[in-house]
Amino acid sequence: MIPVLDLRGRAPGVRELRATLPRAELDVEAALAAVRPICDDVATRGAEAVLDASEKFDGVRPDSLRVPREVIARAVENLDPAVRAALDESIRRARIVHADQVRADTSTTVSSGGTVTERWVPVDRVGLYVPGGRAVYPSSVVMNVVPALLAGVGSLAVASPPQKDFGGWPHPTILAACALLGVEEVWAMGGAQAVAAFAHGLEGVEELEPVSLVTGPGNIWVAAAKRLLKGLIGIDAEAGPTEIAVLADSQADPEHVAADLISQAEHDPMAAAVLVTDSAELAEAVQAAVIRRVAETKHSERVRESLTGPQSAVVLVDSIDVGLDVVNAYAAEHLEIHTGDAAAVAARVRNAGAVFVGTWSPVSLGDYCAGSNHVLPTGGCAAHSSGLSVQSFLRGIHVVEYSEAALRDVGAHVVTLARAEDLPAHGEAVTARLPDLA
Ligand code: NAD
Repeated sequence: MIPVLDLRGRAPGVRELRATLPRAELDVEAALAAVRPICDDVATRGAEAVLDASEKFDGVRPDSLRVPREVIARAVENLDPAVRAALDESIRRARIVHADQVRADTSTTVSSGGTVTERWVPVDRVGLYVPGGRAVYPSSVVMNVVPALLAGVGSLAVASPPQKDFGGWPHPTILAACALLGVEEVWAMGGAQAVAAFAHGLEGVEELEPVSLVTGPGNIWVAAAKRLLKGLIGIDAEAGPTEIAVLADSQADPEHVAADLISQAEHDPMAAAVLVTDSAELAEAVQAAVIRRVAETKHSERVRESLTGPQSAVVLVDSIDVGLDVVNAYAAEHLEIHTGDAAAVAARVRNAGAVFVGTWSPVSLGDYCAGSNHVLPTGGCAAHSSGLSVQSFLRGIHVVEYSEAALRDVGAHVVTLARAEDLPAHGEAVTARLPDLA
């Protein structure tokens, strides 16, 4: 059922692998053309454009874009106690892990009287996107808000699509998660229009201060809007439609592998699920388990579309070594390792958003409650970018402070390099202070 790519008898290089490995037919680049008019419309017509897009794509026009305080308060009052306990635990674990990411400023004495201090300064105001199209993601509230708060961000706003079954407000569990984390500014808007509203701000009745950074996961339209508006705003890595890659050998449990592939295919028909294995027997057993499980799972249509799409594959290789080359070239958002000595294999992974080691560490644990962040780079971006973290919300500012003696100590080198670059005025800024260095 999942398309097969047979690489046995070959050891392709990175370039060939990147060209051969499965990728979605509609990529972020192609979606840009669709989101550009939406973003331009929001830039010129503001809130009316956001509301028109909500009506078109979400099937509802909310009474207001800003969610009233009492609607948020009601959501947390009415929250199912079991869901509240699970969210509390998710928040607790995320706080533990992300607290360890907080950085202290460092001050380095380069020479006597010459210091460079690196100050970590939070972004002033951020927009956090929480998806809510096919599924709703209160877990993404946790994954966005916890690192932003720990980074010390002073002003944060959450946006999530309006839900027609809930009076045009974002899903109540999303609102409740915001309340549990103390977030008061929540906007009922989704997709590209939400990213554009964050970037440009809104004026008039719906007063939205523009943000400097937009983070959070979303579908292809959200990822495309982030790419389009990058520069006007900062963005985290592109966290688009979910991907799971599994590197497995004959020791893997096919039921576990099949369940995990399906768990991520459930996000989106555009989600990608890739099994890389040196065992044809395991591949067959996983395919059989997938067929059986897909027939029984709730979102079978979406899952089937994802698993049979060109973005998904079972990749057969000669060895786990070649399998590692494949997964490193693919750079999946999520990579599971199901091999003998999984920890040793995982240690050789270079490109992945997050790695899940061994049979007891499924991706869905990381989606909710491992303590790790689930906002992770997709579409090969894990080759150069990290998932969301406290660091995503900080800027490192170098503060340079030299005394006269320290400048004198190195000034001649500055003048020499300025001349070598044919930028003599750079050198003159030094000799204006220290004429004897001319
Ligand atoms: P979403 O909130 O991302 O998208 C819903 C919005 O998409 C709607 O509000 C609508 O405005 C817009 N939209 C829908 N169809 C459109 C079209 N044809 N043109 C323009 N805009 C359109 O919610 P979703 O759809 O459920 O998607 C959530 C996504 O987030 C999934 O793809 C999931 O895999 C992904 N995700 C990624 C990560 C990650 O870290 N990479 C984590 C969690 C979820």
